[in-house]
Amino acid sequence: MGQGLSCGATQEQGLFSAVQFGDVETVNALLQKEPGVLHNTTVYDRHSALHIAAANGQIEILSMLLERSLNSDVLNRHKQTPLMLAAMHGKISCVKKLLEAGANMLKFDSLNGRTCLHYAAYYGHTDCLQVILSCAQSSPVAVSWGYARFVNVRDGRGATPLHLAARQRRPDCVHILLDNGALVCSSTGGYGCPGSTPLHLAARGGSLDCIRALLAWGADRLQRDASGRIPYVVALKNKHGACAALLNPSSAEPLVWPSPLKFISELNEEAKALLERALMEANREREKNILKGTAYSVPSPSHSDVGADDNISEASDTELCCICFEQVCTIEVQGCGHQMCAHCTLALCCHNKPNPTTACLTPPVCPFCRSTIARLVVAKIKCCDDTDRDIGDVNSPKLRRSRRSRNFSEGSSSFKGLSAVGSLGKMGGRSSGRIAIDDEYVDKP
Ligand SMILES: [Zn+2]
Ligand SMILES: [Zn+2]
Repeated sequence: MGQGLSCGATQEQGLFSAVQFGDVETVNALLQKEPGVLHNTTVYDRHSALHIAAANGQIEILSMLLERSLNSDVLNRHKQTPLMLAAMHGKISCVKKLLEAGANMLKFDSLNGRTCLHYAAYYGHTDCLQVILSCAQSSPVAVSWGYARFVNVRDGRGATPLHLAARQRRPDCVHILLDNGALVCSSTGGYGCPGSTPLHLAARGGSLDCIRALLAWGADRLQRDASGRIPYVVALKNKHGACAALLNPSSAEPLVWPSPLKFISELNEEAKALLERALMEANREREKNILKGTAYSVPSPSHSDVGADDNISEASDTELCCICFEQVCTIEVQGCGHQMCAHCTLALCCHNKPNPTTACLTPPVCPFCRSTIARLVVAKIKCCDDTDRDIGDVNSPKLRRSRRSRNFSEGSSSFKGLSAVGSLGKMGGRSSGRIAIDDEYVDKP
C-alpha cells in the first residue's frame, strides 16, 4: 500500500495487533473512527485484517470483519485467501464462518497452486478437511466442477490433497480423503519424484498407518513412478524398514475395502466404521506375520485396540458369531435379520484382487439363508439364533474354543477365518445357521 504517513502506519499496526490478539473493543473503535482501515494490508505479505483474524482463529473479530467487508476472498501477496490460512492453522470455527460467508474454496495460491483443501490435508487438520469437503458437496463447486474432481484437485505440481496427506504422514486425513472419493492410484506431475502415487509418498514419509490405509483402499504396490521405482524401493531407500516389509510385492496381499459393491456405499456410518475397523484388524493379523520375518517390531495398533476386542469376546460368550465363534455379532443382515461379526461380514464381500476371468459382481448373499443382502446395519439385539441356544446350554468357553479350533485348525488367526468364509456365498448354508465348510465348493469356478 506504501503510504508513508507515520500516523497511518501506526494506526494499521494497532489494528493488526488488535486483530491478532482478539482485542474486539480496539478493533471496533478503530473501525468506527476510520472504516477505510479495513482495506489496509501488512507491508510485506499484504495480509488483510481478515487474513490475520483467520490465521489466529479470532472468530469474533472475523465475524465482525465479514459483516463489514464485501470480499471474503481477499488475497495476500501469495494469493492466499483467509480460508486457506484458517485451514493451514486449523482454525475450524473460522473455516466454518468463512464458508458460510460464501468464501470460494476453489481459489489457488501463487506459491504452489494449492487450494484450501490442500492446506488442510498438508497440515493434517482433519476437522477442517471434513468441513470443507461437506461444504463442497452442497456448494456450487460440486455443480460446476464436480465433487469428485474437487476432492482430487491438483496443485501446481500435480499433487492432490491425498498425495500431500500421505507425504506428510497424516493417516486420518488420508482416510477421510479416500472415504470421499480420492483416487488412490493417481500420479503426481512434478511433486516429489514425478509420477509418484500416494503410496510412493507414504513410503517416503515412512507412515505405516498411511500405508495401511492406502493398501486397504486398493493402492497398487507394483505401480512405478517416472524413475521406474515401486513404493517398496522408495521405502527401502528412505530406511523405513517396516513400511518396506508391507510394501514388498512378495509379501502377502492385504485385504481391500470392497468399495465397488453397491450396498457398502449405502452403509450407515456406524456399520461402515465397524467394518472398516474389522478390515484394518484383519490386515494387522496378516501384517504381524509379514513383519515377524523382519527385524522390525509391530507398533501397537493406534486406532483399534485388539486386546480390548479379545476381552469382549471372552465376556459375552453368548453373542458369539455363528461363523467364526470368535467375535461378537455386531452386524445384522437386512431384511432376514441374521447376525454375524464384522470380520465375517467383511469376508463375505471382500476380495484381494478381483480375478479378471471370474470377475462377477453379484451381490453377496446371507450365509445363513442365502437371501440377497439388501442392507447391513449395526446389530442392536443380542444374537439369539435358534441353534445358538442348542450350544447355549453349555456355556463353557472351553467348548466354544474346541469347536472353533475344529473349524479353523490354525489357531485363532482371524485371517484363517476370513479366507475360509470367503467362499461362503457358494456354500449350502442351511437356514439353521450352522455352516459346514465344504472344500468341494471352493475350487469350482
Ligand atoms: Zn464371525
Ligand atoms: Zn439371512
